[in-house]
Amino acid sequence: MSLESIDRVAVLGAGNMGHGITEVTAMAGYDVTMRDIEPEYVENGYEQLAWSLEKLEEKALLEESAEDVLERIETTTDLEEAVADADLVIEAAPENLELKHDIFSDLETYCDSETLLATNTSSLPITEIAEAVETPERVLGLHFFNPPVKMDLVEVIYGEETSDAVAEAGYEWVESIGKTPIYVRKDVRGFVVNTIVGPFGGEPAWMVSEGEATIQEADATMVHERGYPMGTFELGDLTGIDVGYSVRKEAGDPVPPIVAEKVDAGELGRKTGTGYYEYEDGDGPDYDPDDAGDFDWLRVEARMINRAAFLVGEGVATPEEVDTGVKLGLGFPEGICRRGDKLGLETVLEKLERLHEATDAERFEPHPYLEELVAAGKTGEEAGEGFYEYDSDDDDGLGTYHNLNVDLEDGVLCVELDRPSRLNALSPDLLAEIDDLFSSVDVDGIRCATIEGTGDRAFSAGADVNSFVGADPTDLMSVTPAFETVTDFPRPVLAKIDGYCLGGGLELALACDLRIATERSSFGCPEIDLGLIPGGGGTQRLTRILGETRAKELVFRGNHIDAERAAEWGLLNRAVAREAFDDVVAEFVDDLRTGPPIALEVAKKVMNEGQDASIDAALAMESQGFGLLASTDDVVEGTMAFAEDREPEFEGT
Ligand code: NAD
Repeated sequence: MSLESIDRVAVLGAGNMGHGITEVTAMAGYDVTMRDIEPEYVENGYEQLAWSLEKLEEKALLEESAEDVLERIETTTDLEEAVADADLVIEAAPENLELKHDIFSDLETYCDSETLLATNTSSLPITEIAEAVETPERVLGLHFFNPPVKMDLVEVIYGEETSDAVAEAGYEWVESIGKTPIYVRKDVRGFVVNTIVGPFGGEPAWMVSEGEATIQEADATMVHERGYPMGTFELGDLTGIDVGYSVRKEAGDPVPPIVAEKVDAGELGRKTGTGYYEYEDGDGPDYDPDDAGDFDWLRVEARMINRAAFLVGEGVATPEEVDTGVKLGLGFPEGICRRGDKLGLETVLEKLERLHEATDAERFEPHPYLEELVAAGKTGEEAGEGFYEYDSDDDDGLGTYHNLNVDLEDGVLCVELDRPSRLNALSPDLLAEIDDLFSSVDVDGIRCATIEGTGDRAFSAGADVNSFVGADPTDLMSVTPAFETVTDFPRPVLAKIDGYCLGGGLELALACDLRIATERSSFGCPEIDLGLIPGGGGTQRLTRILGETRAKELVFRGNHIDAERAAEWGLLNRAVAREAFDDVVAEFVDDLRTGPPIALEVAKKVMNEGQDASIDAALAMESQGFGLLASTDDVVEGTMAFAEDREPEFEGT
């Protein structure tokens, strides 16, 4: 069982999830057959995915035409025909155990004995679904999120009998379609992501039911103070209040009174026009930043962190997996384990203990793993260890970062902004990490650095606006040093831009020395539309790089310009087609990596500092630098190589 053996995929169900899974599978180059029970369901699913592919093509997000992708998709209502040649089957039929049993027992009849059998169930145990077959070791969960084409995460779930080879093949296959897999090593209810989201939805509902907060206070605090993409009640209205209600009922968990009242009244959220907020007679969620304040958010986060302790302590997932899950699956601003480590796990434990004592409610009972960590003094970042280790002497010497992926390869420091669910928006934590990395990394082994975004939509779409609303003006005025640190980094830094490069993201790109972008990228300073101005050096660097006329157009109008115009204006070194992007970047990086490090450092310093000096002072700086370089071994090597007509090998001495 291995990835190499997966060529053809069958998806069962053409509904919400099935057609989306079919789409992303075909986009990755696999042949795929989508099966539903009635021709009209198949047609409907096919039309939706064809429409979606066309939209992607229009936005230049496909590497080929929509038609080429569609050519890899077949549809049928015949199960045998759909799965006969499939190496992987993904079942996305309605959430009903009996139905899934029927499907899986048919699969055993029609599929090859080696075929991987996956289910996209959200809430049924994989182990129970696998009971329908004689070979449960080849059954696994591949839990996509809705809509699959936009959501990056897939949970790869072990049933009790699932073999490692099967789980690994599933994991690699998810990677091969460009999604991010996380292992869920035990078949627990809710898997990873829904285990954490339970308290996010439930606890504020208890608090409102008990008269301790209003809906608006809860949602405003979670969004404007704690950075969540949506308030609890806003989310409940979106997914349907009855959905959360049934999940709780099925799990045998008590239901918060406000949830039961809404379900009894048939006020289920957006779909019925009324839920926690009014949609038919109102404008939906009506909280604003002023409503934030007294809400006891720690009660909610302590419970989520306790659930994370359960997942990690029981060996279901690692802290990294839990955090990837909540960031990509729920759009959380940071991982929940990471948040626990920042808050201090002793604070979290105390909070739970106090609530448990006061209410005797089971949901506050601290998980033994949380107690163990605290007892061992592993209380989080300040203590040097919590869910994560914060040892600065870590193996690769590059430090531990949570919002950045950092790698050093052949002298190239590759930095990825890792908040894809937020289009890599620059949060205060992310900026602090950039500052820390570029000011503390050992430059000796580094010849140049690159910065890029993760996900496939943005370099960085700006500053994380939520973190600024309501902030104290004096806090905002103490501008982060991150941009200066990148500008002052003694090695050349290149921004690799693919997608949105806006606001703070553009300022970060401007702080780099060189910028290469794909043609689909767009650039702009939207701050003015928020009543702000660029605050990370944008007003000044744009003026220096583009000249006053163009800089003022960008800053005053707040509009976007495309890559072609950005290149014409001198904002970019190159704007290239997506297919050519990696090659062009590699050519630049190769020159920087093999260039003379001291000369590059001096050139960068003299050129940066010279801009702020008089021409005489700048020329003096240049000649000083020139003189300094004359005594280096690199100059000797450079001149010898020139004379011998070979490539120089600079050592940086
Ligand atoms: P859906 O109702 O939109 O689609 C299900 C489709 O399966 C329907 O078109 C139905 O006709 C078809 N179907 C019924 N019997 C079938 C059979 N024997 N063979 C093939 N197709 C059959 O449901 P959905 O939202 O796409 O959910 C499908 C599965 O994915 C469920 O297990 C659900 O729990 C899970 N899931 C849903 C979401 C979500 O947000 N909707 C997210 C993750 C996982």
